[in-house]
Amino acid sequence: MEDDNGLFACDLDELVGSDDWPEVPEAGAMDAAAEPLMAASSGGCRIRFNLPGPGNLRKMPMTTVVSSDGFDMDVDRLYTWAPAPDQAGGLSVAEVEASVTKIFRDSKSWMAAGIALRRVPFEEAQCIVEYVAAPLTCGPVHNAAGCTSGPDSRRLIRMVEGTFGKHKGLMHELIHAFGHGRHNTIESCPSVMGGPPDIWPSPSDISSTRQWAHS
Ligand SMILES: [Zn+2]
Repeated sequence: MEDDNGLFACDLDELVGSDDWPEVPEAGAMDAAAEPLMAASSGGCRIRFNLPGPGNLRKMPMTTVVSSDGFDMDVDRLYTWAPAPDQAGGLSVAEVEASVTKIFRDSKSWMAAGIALRRVPFEEAQCIVEYVAAPLTCGPVHNAAGCTSGPDSRRLIRMVEGTFGKHKGLMHELIHAFGHGRHNTIESCPSVMGGPPDIWPSPSDISSTRQWAHS
């Protein structure tokens, strides 16, 4: 469910991915040369953004940073975040910070599209990440798995605590947060905006987000 004010309610199939999704792409199966070809031939799979690029991302000088899994990554767009001061399920703020930072800084995260996701002081953050107990009410939806809401200057990502430590949901909600990206549950389109379960951004996710972020 999504509305014109940037509210996105996400059910478990979208956030984590349905187990009966027909195809799980192999991680890293796509090389750099094949990516543009794949993107061109899969126009319907590209992420659609309700905000014009680069949305809520900020431009910054090209910088090389080391990913949490040890790769040099070139980034020139910035989005800032902080954990909420209260987290559900006995999670400490430090646990959420450590887990989310590791996922956000993974080489397979949106960093692959040139976007740095930087932890900053709570007051300065463009986006807050909060794990909450079920049931999560998101606008008119009463049992969401995830929810992104709030003004563009201060987006709020809420995740049901059972999704803690899972990367797909965070990648999914970030697209809602910084670009008002839309769901895509077309079964022939592997994407974090639909399925299959537990994937990182697909080659078409990365290529469409990179193009949008630099438009
Ligand atoms: Zn969603």
